[in-house]
Amino acid sequence: MRIVSAIVYGMDIPFVETFRHSLAARDHSDSVVVKVTTDTGISGFGEGVPRAYVTGETKEKSLEHIQAVLLPAILNADLDGTDVHHALAFVHGILPCEDVSGEVVWHASRCAVELAVTDCLLRANKVSFAAVLPPKIQEITYSGVISAGRTPQVEKLARRLKAIGFQHVKLKVGRPEDEEQVGLVRAIMGPSVSLRLDANGAFAKDAAIRFLSAVARYNVDCIEQPIPRGDPSELAVLRSSVSVPVMADESVVTIRDAEELIAMNACDLFNLRISKCGGLHNTLAMAERAAAAGIGIQLGCQVGETAILSAAGRHVAAHLNGLRFVEGSYGTHMLVEDVAEENVTFGHGGMAPVLAGPGLGITVREEILAKHATAIISVP
Ligand SMILES: [Mg+2]
Repeated sequence: MRIVSAIVYGMDIPFVETFRHSLAARDHSDSVVVKVTTDTGISGFGEGVPRAYVTGETKEKSLEHIQAVLLPAILNADLDGTDVHHALAFVHGILPCEDVSGEVVWHASRCAVELAVTDCLLRANKVSFAAVLPPKIQEITYSGVISAGRTPQVEKLARRLKAIGFQHVKLKVGRPEDEEQVGLVRAIMGPSVSLRLDANGAFAKDAAIRFLSAVARYNVDCIEQPIPRGDPSELAVLRSSVSVPVMADESVVTIRDAEELIAMNACDLFNLRISKCGGLHNTLAMAERAAAAGIGIQLGCQVGETAILSAAGRHVAAHLNGLRFVEGSYGTHMLVEDVAEENVTFGHGGMAPVLAGPGLGITVREEILAKHATAIISVP
């Protein structure tokens, strides 16, 4: 059995409302979806979310890279005789070695192709991702995220998250005056809800120290990426100057980044995102290094992920033990429509069950992909 064809979709699914943080405001999904098909007629789907400020990839560059570099590596790959329990190592082995020295790391592109080939391989063998990533829990608790904005809008969103019953809430921050919003969100959520902040690198180091000293009284569980990606020693100095635990996000894209941050004692937590980290194989490798070093893990997401990455995230979240926080599965809370027949969005309290069924456990509606595609590339 060989992969004989692929379709790559550049996607723009509109959002229900604009999402803002200190690096971007976004009102559509801007992702890539890859479909691969075997000579026996089995297909698999994968997704990546290229972001120039995360991996250097844009959607256009990602479409080119997938077509020029990644698809030639997997087309005609022989899938027979692969032990499905080692599917991730097999797929990692047929994809080209990544070059992490340049301006661009092709992680979103790689993620889309890795997921598609793995989904296809598992579907062909009629097994779920759970065979590769055995679940250790049966239900995932997702976080609610409050987009950066003016205080009345933050208040409205916080009340909405309170009504859904989230136990974990994250607020996007980035200006000294956001201190007031942290207090407001804490007051709305009450004392028992976990509250954390994400600055997306908006602060200079001294401003971050001042801000964190001021908001520590609101019982903040952690600050994500307080300062821009850069020398890990800067983050290490910041970490040693504040009581709020520090989570690396934009600073931890590659395995090498993870190793450097660990060596420098630069953070307490990693935010691992499947697309940012280059797919499941790399994400699990980084999680392994984090666990060995006593670094806590958040499984995060990119804004605008469809049911494809939501399903992949669900499998990883169920598999990795002791995750501190999980984000994702926002589905139609974010997108005007999602791409799967099944609804994989979380329910009350941000809770969602593990997924069963072959491959990722979802049925992708190709008419929805076509409807929101800005580019459709068929190979060969
Ligand atoms: Mg972040």
